[in-house]
Amino acid sequence: MEKGDFENLKAGDKVALVCKASDSIVVINIKDQKEAKELCTEGRMIHCPTCKKEYKTTFVNPSGKGGGPQTKVVVVDENGKPCMFFAKLS
Ligand SMILES: [Zn+2]
Repeated sequence: MEKGDFENLKAGDKVALVCKASDSIVVINIKDQKEAKELCTEGRMIHCPTCKKEYKTTFVNPSGKGGGPQTKVVVVDENGKPCMFFAKLS
């Protein structure tokens, strides 16, 4: 998901947090905009209960400038390798 996708989330939306390392999925029920924004905070650590590891939320900017809505939210492991991602459920 991109940063703008998180900004468009509203109460009642569901987001899947998928871990590629362990093939596990956690479904997050969005309660409010504040929670959605917190999910895409750069540097936020996410605990994977299956891997029993902490992964880091990072921003990847395709255009190389600013933190606009098209900024990709990527969760990486300790080696900087992408290992988790968010997907909006409809
Ligand atoms: Zn995992």
